[in-house]
Amino acid sequence: MTVNGNSSRRHLRVAIIGGGPGGLATAIALSKIPDVTVNIYEQATVLREAGAGISIGSNTWNALELLGVADTLTSGHPTWTVLNMNGRSGEELTRREKVRDETGRPPIRTQRTKLQSALLAHVKPGILQLSKRLARMVDKGHEGVELYFEDGTITTADLVVGADGIRSVVRDTAWTDYEIKFTGTTIWRTLLPWDDVKDLDPRFEITGWWHTPTTHVYFSPVGEGLWEIASRAWQDPKIHSANKKSWGVPVENSHVESHFTEYLPQIREALARVPPGGWREFAAFAGPELAKLTAWDNKIVLVGDSSHALSGAFGSGAGFAIEDGYILARALEYWKNDTSKALPLFDAIRLPYYSRMYAHLASEADKRAAKLKALGNPTFDEQVKNKIITDGGKDMSWIYQNDIGAVWKESVQQLEGTYT
Ligand SMILES: Cc1cc2nc3c(=O)[nH]c(=O)nc-3n(C[C@H](O)[C@H](O)[C@H](O)COP(=O)(O)OP(=O)(O)OC[C@H]3O[C@@H](n4cnc5c(N)ncnc54)[C@H](O)[C@@H]3O)c2cc1C
Repeated sequence: MTVNGNSSRRHLRVAIIGGGPGGLATAIALSKIPDVTVNIYEQATVLREAGAGISIGSNTWNALELLGVADTLTSGHPTWTVLNMNGRSGEELTRREKVRDETGRPPIRTQRTKLQSALLAHVKPGILQLSKRLARMVDKGHEGVELYFEDGTITTADLVVGADGIRSVVRDTAWTDYEIKFTGTTIWRTLLPWDDVKDLDPRFEITGWWHTPTTHVYFSPVGEGLWEIASRAWQDPKIHSANKKSWGVPVENSHVESHFTEYLPQIREALARVPPGGWREFAAFAGPELAKLTAWDNKIVLVGDSSHALSGAFGSGAGFAIEDGYILARALEYWKNDTSKALPLFDAIRLPYYSRMYAHLASEADKRAAKLKALGNPTFDEQVKNKIITDGGKDMSWIYQNDIGAVWKESVQQLEGTYT
């Protein structure tokens, strides 16, 4: 017996706030199910992704495949080999060789704009509304949610999907006590032609992290002759720039370079070759785990970065956002657009997954701190090793090989098993 057999389908007006990977993927998935009207409201005047590259591994490929988008994403650099290096001595610390998996697609690093345009190509015309910044929302009970935009327009929706990123207005309206804080990490990212740096070191053509104890520089080709630098530095947030808000803002080259003076000369030279105006700065914020991803009697649901403010940990947040969109659509379809049943089901599938991520990060931080303490007065090189070895050999397939289609099937089996 299926548990969802009897009720009739309800027509649902869905407002998706945000046109990032989460919003676009959710719109694609929801447009494939019956009796749903979807609109995406995006604050930007033009849909573009600030930043540089993005990694697409099996979990993201699986989700893109289910949405019918995978074949549209054709650009990128295969990342079969990934290095971790000591940025001061040049010592190779780990070298991971990835193997082909059942997705049949190579792990890649691509330009963020390529993922964005591949998703956009599958969003039905007329759904995306630009220059629409959500200002506030009002709960109108059975009538839905009223959405007020900064341009003075108002609309009403039965379901609001908060896909508006880590600084989510949807989340901050419905979860009024929620707060994100600067983690101390600042990230600087850029793309430049590989030809401009290829004389510096052959190892720069291999995707890799070059570390000091509190900073790293990430190098990777991203396809189409472009090469990415994503560098980051941690400074104690109690002392440094606690109110920092920068997200994708241009920054002086000298400011970026000043954080990486301990590195090998060829790394410093690579940073120096970034054309003026090429860097964008991102201040990393994070917030605690939510107890629920739904609010206002199942009229609000969060997907992507708004639902788990982990500040890019795991380097797979776009994948998580796309998985969220897929599961939300499956849950609504299964429960014939009855949000009182579909949203708790979404919560039951996605919340424990995000909880596991929070728990994993906390336990890794504890282990790293304990190891550092045990080392007493560690040298620079010991600190670098300690920074990267904690995950060595640990099975992270629950993230990077996650098969969201199989997760859904299993959830349905469990649901129906309970009721037979
Ligand atoms: C340095 C760094 C590296 C990363 N590397 C990777 C990686 O390699 N692989 C990976 O998968 N992920 C990576 N991530 C994470 C990934 O970028 C995010 O997880 C992903 O973009 C989240 O998608 P989203 O749609 O939830 O939010 P976002 O991409 O943040 O999109 C939110 C959208 O909402 C819009 N918006 C915000 N507020 C409003 C409003 N009030 N009204 C209307 N619109 C609004 C914004 O303009 C934006 O378009 C990285 C993140 C960082 C910071």
